[in-house]
Amino acid sequence: MNQQAQVEEFQFQAEMSQLLHLITHSLYSHREIFLRELISNASDALSKLHFASLTQSDLLKDEGDLQITITLDEEKKTLTIADNGVGMTKEELIANLGTIANSGTANFAKNLTGDKTKDIELIGRFGVGFYAVFMVAEEVSVETKSCQGGTAHRWVSKGTGKYSIEETESQQRGTSITFTLKEDAEEFAKKWKVEETIKRYSDFVSFPIELNGEKINQSSALWSKNKNEISEEQYKEFYQYISHRYDDPMHRLHLAAEAPVQFKALLYIPSEADRNLFTTELETSLRLYVKKVFIQSDCKDLLPQWLRFVNGVVDSEDLPLNISREVTQHSAMMHKIQKYLVKKLLGDFAAWAESDKEKYTAFWRAFGNFIKEGLHTDYANKDKLIELYRAASSKEPQGLVSLSEYLERMPENQKEIYFVYGKTQEAIEANPNLEYFKRNELEVLYLYDEVDHFIMPGLGPYKEKQLVAIDKAEVDLSKEEEQKKRDLSEEKKKSILEKFKKVLGERVADVIESKRLVDNPCTLVAGQGGMDAQMERMMKMMDPNFAGGKKILEINTRSPLIKSLAKIHERKPKDKTIKEVILELFEGASLLEGSLEDPSSLVTRQQRLLAQLAELYAKSLAN
Ligand code: ADP
Ligand code: MG
Repeated sequence: MNQQAQVEEFQFQAEMSQLLHLITHSLYSHREIFLRELISNASDALSKLHFASLTQSDLLKDEGDLQITITLDEEKKTLTIADNGVGMTKEELIANLGTIANSGTANFAKNLTGDKTKDIELIGRFGVGFYAVFMVAEEVSVETKSCQGGTAHRWVSKGTGKYSIEETESQQRGTSITFTLKEDAEEFAKKWKVEETIKRYSDFVSFPIELNGEKINQSSALWSKNKNEISEEQYKEFYQYISHRYDDPMHRLHLAAEAPVQFKALLYIPSEADRNLFTTELETSLRLYVKKVFIQSDCKDLLPQWLRFVNGVVDSEDLPLNISREVTQHSAMMHKIQKYLVKKLLGDFAAWAESDKEKYTAFWRAFGNFIKEGLHTDYANKDKLIELYRAASSKEPQGLVSLSEYLERMPENQKEIYFVYGKTQEAIEANPNLEYFKRNELEVLYLYDEVDHFIMPGLGPYKEKQLVAIDKAEVDLSKEEEQKKRDLSEEKKKSILEKFKKVLGERVADVIESKRLVDNPCTLVAGQGGMDAQMERMMKMMDPNFAGGKKILEINTRSPLIKSLAKIHERKPKDKTIKEVILELFEGASLLEGSLEDPSSLVTRQQRLLAQLAELYAKSLAN
């Protein structure tokens, strides 16, 4: 027999208390979202039940229409949000409300910005929505019974460290959440306030929401209406509802396709990208419906991954209702829908690039990295994507240059498109390898982004012009007369280069004369086909044992320092200072490109050289 009223105590998962604290304190001024979160959970539970019942028709039983029932007692200040959805077993209660499902608080907390609007958005997206209720309630009681049968349970918590679970008398299938409003949240004890909040955030929930017996929401499929029946305000509200965001979308695409597949879609592009969209979860925010029946949220098969910043709804007339996740992946119908949508979206992007520069700039600044990802992964659309590609350049260091613009203005005899990586404009313009290009007025693309390192190697030629990193470009300055005059004789050149090679030995692939440097004495370059410096650094980050390729040291035989060195070498070939200076130059160049592991020898050597220099200078003063 059951022991009646036996109450079991549980501890929340460790990070949970931290999370609850964060939510209840940092998001206080937007408390009303608790209702949105609870309604969204109820709606999910109803959708899940509906979906399961398509194949398991006995699940629905005789328990009335699927709906969300909200009961407010203005006097007692209690609120109940109930649904007759899937409900939860005891195990599910513990797993779903006692632990953080997947992403974890640590991740959530890391992403908090301190900006309330942004932080609130995170709540919905990190799957911590339920706990928002503790912003308005001291103690919360969740009564639930799974649609799969078994006993009903009551979960009770004050949201501080622990919760309890006990069995309750069997009730109807579904979940009902009850709490008394805190004193400072009593505004939600007014019916008009609750009604307003439901309308604001949950108007498009596809199940009826009743408040004290009265239906509040429209629960209509906005996407299936005609465009002229929908107001701007409705479009915007729907976007905010579906994306859990609060901004105005940058763009929307509302379409009804007839051939080759029949479907309706309402897609939105947000005004900016989620900060975590690129680095962590590969989530999409697209929902799949079939004939207005909700099938799947975060449907990954409707758009290629690089378009995951698109939010919205796709409703197909042709797919079977009981389509499963496995089937959507391989369905030819889904494939056709995807192709259609991608074509439309690419068409829109291209149109802005062509005739609405301002919009395209905003779009590129927000989602350019996704286009780059597409270039890398979406082979079928590469030709279109490459036209959408933009980068800054030496002609427009903070601007956006397209490859076709670059081609248009480059001199006729230029054979390649040049680019250079660097975190900032300053860093790039300090790169000695850029000197030659500046001097010869050759445009160089400035690539500021980490992802560029992954994209560029696979980009291939654009209109038959290869894209080449400036440190790998073969450039020749030897024709410039003035340079020649300042240069060392061939014999001296050979001799000093030999000395460099002897001193550096295995640390470099080769030492050669530089044709590209103007003022700098030396620079490190990758051999043809070698990895560039930043790419190597990234490889090292991922694999500590990664040795990296050896570099070629290019020496500027016209620079005063090298010329002096050659002179000393001529007179006193064994002089220790030459060796010290050579090592110092090499390690300095390595430091500049970020490949020097340990700068300590560089620093001690530098101190020795400075001591020598100071001593010489002091002596000369004494004379
Ligand atoms: P999310 O909805 O993003 O998963 P929540 O914190 O809102 O995160 O909810 C946690 C989990 O608790 C849900 O995923 C669901 O499994 C369960 N849950 C919450 N409310 C209900 C409900 N009304 N009916 C059934 N399960 C629910
Ligand atoms: Mg939720």
